Parts: sequence; C-alpha cells; structure tokens
Amino acid sequence: MYQTFIGLEIHIQLLTKTKVFCGCRAAFGDEPNTNVCPVCMGYPGVLPALNEEAIKMAYIVAKALNCSLNPMAIFERKNYFYPDLPKNYQISQFRSPVGKNGYVDLEFRKKKKRIRIREVHLEEDAGKMIHVGDISLLDFNRAGTPLLEIVTMPDLEIGEEAEVFLQHFRRMVRHLGVCDGNMEEGSLRCDANISINHPGKGLGKKVEIKNLNSFKFVRKALNFEIERQSEILDRGGTISQETRLWNENRDLTMSMRVKESENDYRYFPDPDLPPFRPSKEFLEKVEASLVELPDARVKRFVKEYGLTKSQADFLCDEKYTADFYEETVKLGADPQKTALWLASDVQKLLNRFDIELKDSSLTPNRLYELLDLLETKRIHGKIAKQVLEKIFREDKPPIQIIRENNWEQITDPDEIERVVKEVIKENPESANQIKSGDTKPIGFLIGQIMKKTSGRAEPGLVQSILRKQFSFSVIQILSMGGAITGSFTEDGKVAPGNSKKIKEV
Ligand code: ZN
Ligand code: MN
Repeated sequence: MYQTFIGLEIHIQLLTKTKVFCGCRAAFGDEPNTNVCPVCMGYPGVLPALNEEAIKMAYIVAKALNCSLNPMAIFERKNYFYPDLPKNYQISQFRSPVGKNGYVDLEFRKKKKRIRIREVHLEEDAGKMIHVGDISLLDFNRAGTPLLEIVTMPDLEIGEEAEVFLQHFRRMVRHLGVCDGNMEEGSLRCDANISINHPGKGLGKKVEIKNLNSFKFVRKALNFEIERQSEILDRGGTISQETRLWNENRDLTMSMRVKESENDYRYFPDPDLPPFRPSKEFLEKVEASLVELPDARVKRFVKEYGLTKSQADFLCDEKYTADFYEETVKLGADPQKTALWLASDVQKLLNRFDIELKDSSLTPNRLYELLDLLETKRIHGKIAKQVLEKIFREDKPPIQIIRENNWEQITDPDEIERVVKEVIKENPESANQIKSGDTKPIGFLIGQIMKKTSGRAEPGLVQSILRKQFSFSVIQILSMGGAITGSFTEDGKVAPGNSKKIKEV
C-alpha cells in the first residue's frame, strides 16, 4: 500500500597487495600497527601515489556494472574528524568518480528488473577502533587500504530483493577477482537507505541503516523498517530522517543519530594527487580483465552442457568451481555426470571436511579419472564414492587408491559364477526357498556374494549369473536389479529400503 525505495551503499575492500596511496601491505589479520608508514599515518609533508592495481580494479568493477567510465577521475579530500582517521580527511571521490550511471539486470521472483547504479568511486579505508572495557585501541593497518564504494539508485523494494542484489553483486566481484566478499571480515560492507511514501508521492524521508554485515541482516533490517515506517504513516505520523543500527539480538533497528542537516565534508581536490586519466592501453587492460560474468556463464552452461538452471547456478556460484567443471568436461568427462558428482558427492565431502573445492585434493584430472573408471566399469558406484573420499583424505590419484585397496571390479564371469555357486551351496535353505518360488532370500544371497567379493563383483554380471542359476522371469529380475544397484550395509546385507522392494514381488 506504500511505495518503498531502497538504495544500497556497498563498500568492498580490493584485493591489492599494497595500500592505495602507499606501499604498505594490505592484509587482514596482521599484528596491529605493523603495516603503516608516514603516508597512511597522515604525517605532514608526505606525498601519496596512486596504486595502479587499485585503480584498474575500480575501472573493472565500474565496467562490469555497465557504468560510463570517467575519462578523468578526480581524487578529493572528504574532511571530517574521527580517531581512526589520522589525516582528518579521507581521500575519496566526489565530483568525478571512476564510473557513473550503470545498471545491474536482476531476476527477482521470476521478474526481470534493472537496478541502476549511481556511481562507483575509489577511496581509502580508515583504521580500526577496538574498544576494550573503557579504553579504545587504534589499529592503523587498515588505514589507507583501497576501498571501492558502489552506490545504487533507490530501485529496490523489499529486503529479499536487496538480499538477492547483494548476493548477485558479491558473486560478481568474486568472479572478477577484485574482492573476496567476506562480510564477516568486513571486506564487503553494506549500508542501506530506505524511505516509504504514499504511491505516486515520490521518495519519503530517508532512513539510513548502517553496518549490515550479513545478507540476512540486510533483509531483516529492511523489512523491519518497512513495517516500522508503515505503522508510523498509518497513524498519520511523520518519519524522522535519521541513521539507525540493526540490533541482531533483538531483531530490530534502533536510532543512532538524528540527522539535523546534511554533513558538510567540504570536499576539494587533493592537491597532492593529479586526476587519473585512463590511457587507451589502460582501458584495454581493463577490458581484458573482464572475465565472463556469472549470469552469462550460467546461460552458456545451460545451453552448452544441457544442464538445468539450478545446476548451472550451483556450478557458477564460485568461479573456481565453474572453471573446475569445464576443465573436467574438456578432459572428456560426461557433462551431466560431472555436474551431478560435483553437486552431490563432492559437495557432501566438502561440507563434511569443511573446506572449499580449491583447497581440497580433488583436481579436474582426478575427477575425470574417477568418472572414467566408473564409465568403463572398472569400479562400480559404491566403490567410486569410497575412492572419492580417499582422494580427499589421502591426496592420491584414483587409480593408485584402487590398486592399493584392491578395489577393481570383478568382471570375469567365471570368477563371479564360482562365487555365486559357492554362496548357493553354503545357503541351501535360501536356495530351495527361491527355487520353490519365494524370492525373499534373493537380497540375502546377493548380500553374501557382495560380501565375499568385498563389494567388487560387477552388479550386472551378478544379476545375469543368478538368473541363470534360478531362471527367473523378467519382472523378478527387474526387482532384483534394484537390490543389486542399491546400497549394502557393512555386513553385506542389502539395506532395508531395498529388501522391501523385493518382498513386493
Ligand atoms: Zn603506508
Ligand atoms: Mn565511502
């Protein structure tokens, strides 16, 4: 019933090795105040110098967000006092940022929507204040690290949509390799502004919510504000323009400060930094660094490999996973099976060991080899899963694991027939029962065969050889197939789900 206008201000820490205007190391988690120098500490008389890697990343993001790139980016001083800001000003951009007027095309609740980007600008981060009891400590390691600020137009409407936008954005910058997107460590930070109004009346009074450090908080805080502000308007009240904070323990926003007037930062061009004019070569480098973005890649995966949208989404969530997938397929693996294994068994192990694919000992080569061993029936499905787990645990190629464990599938019909006969001989009661038409003990016999061969007998062969022994009808054999390809418990019995299937015959 009210119209909602939500805009986001996102800050991302760029993955440069050094700070944006000096040569200090830019890293998270180092010993406090070890990555500092006169420039980032704001000593008088020092000269900042622009980090080319940082400005390149800024242009890459601006370009990926479809911004018009500025032929002259100006650095300006944003003046304010804060203990973690040693210079008493932040070098930022105001009149002429890196990029302007971009957009992101989103799909939200099955509808296409364009979110406009107001601007992208490069600036330096401040230090960090750490409050211990009643004293405050200052760590200047972060002071002067490159920060990219992305400001959207108020085109978002509800918390869920803002969350989807932010996830989309995070995936993009991670793909571009310019930011790790870690919200907990603060490498991606989000402030949101929101206003609501009667339809057709335009923007309402703007409320800013600061420091939303997870997707969930962005969604919850915005939806809370929509409720809160709607109630005020329902009562005929007015909303005050203010800054609020999300209280994660109480699930509500709380007023931090009421803005009486716009801050006057007295921006002016930094006399120590000349405007940056990207050269033709520079812009070519930017162009060359623009990798295929996740959305385009998802579409291509669906078309090229016949995957479903959700499979492609899963694979393209991380660039590493998408690259891994394509490499495995290029080696000759089946696109469908590779996608299935990555999304199920591989993912399960990653969760269990709590690691990321890039840190695991699985490589495209090893996955291809494993799938090939399965395809050529040298191992069967259950063994393949065990091999995969051993790759994770022991960091060895599949073929070595199979040899060491003597896991190669038995495909020699004579050998299998020998075992089948042995098992029938050892279990005359079961055999007689089957001969008299009661198929119940089939599962048990199969279990015994698999146990004797340590699960290595080729299931298809076990099936056909058993058929020869008992000459079953086709229907009965089909249900036996279910038992054979099903899972076996440790002691060689067929898992309960499968034995039930046999009873129904
Ligand atoms: Zn420095
Ligand atoms: Mn900023």
